Amino acid sequence: MKISRFKKAHKTLTFFATNFDYREPYQILVDATFCQIALQNKVIIEEQIKKYFQTTIKLVTTQCVILEAESLGSPLAGATMIVKKFHVHKCGHEGAPVPASQCIKSMTKGGRYVIASQDRTLQDSLRRVPGRILLYLHKATPVLEEPSEASKKYVSKKSQKSLTSGIEKHVEHLKQIQTIQNEKLYKQIKTRRGPKNPNPLSCKKSTKQKGKKPNPIIAKESKLSETSKVQMKKKRKRIKTSNHIKTL
Ligand SMILES: [Zn+2]
Repeated sequence: MKISRFKKAHKTLTFFATNFDYREPYQILVDATFCQIALQNKVIIEEQIKKYFQTTIKLVTTQCVILEAESLGSPLAGATMIVKKFHVHKCGHEGAPVPASQCIKSMTKGGRYVIASQDRTLQDSLRRVPGRILLYLHKATPVLEEPSEASKKYVSKKSQKSLTSGIEKHVEHLKQIQTIQNEKLYKQIKTRRGPKNPNPLSCKKSTKQKGKKPNPIIAKESKLSETSKVQMKKKRKRIKTSNHIKTL
């Protein structure tokens, strides 16, 4: 057996353990079809599966599986002998047995079972349900089937949901922080204000200041204007018309 086969199986088991709560010891629900192929290929089921899983396992079956195998008679006599050796889990059909495939499907609803079967119809049916693990024999080699599309889709949807809710929670948290900060800031501004400062315009100094000396330039200019007025008056006096002109 190649190492990559073990790694693949381990990866598949980890996927189901993480996302669908499968736990050790892994319960392997075996039907008569699996036992029949094992017998044909001389596979010792418990030994081979333990080796393949590299972890603790428990082989189980149901009353319905045993009864169906017995009802098929001699062609399945060897397989029936094998399947009878496993632990019989109560399936709820005691006294009113149902076909093995139907019984197995009902078992997967309530429990965590790895389904060991060669029944293709049953396999197809279980592949459509998220969280179902399939084990089959490829000649003498046990194969743990990789997670079905249904299982993968279910897990990716679940993680998407948790991611979205995670982001929403984070945004909500940030909003709360922002509100607290705003409240703190508002309180700080309110306490800082205190008594109002006087209006700077009301403090403007009056233009009429007592005891201030007059501006010498303005004073000079005013003096000059006074003298020019006097000169103008003098000039007007000079151009007085003489009496002989007046008579004309
Ligand atoms: Zn049953």
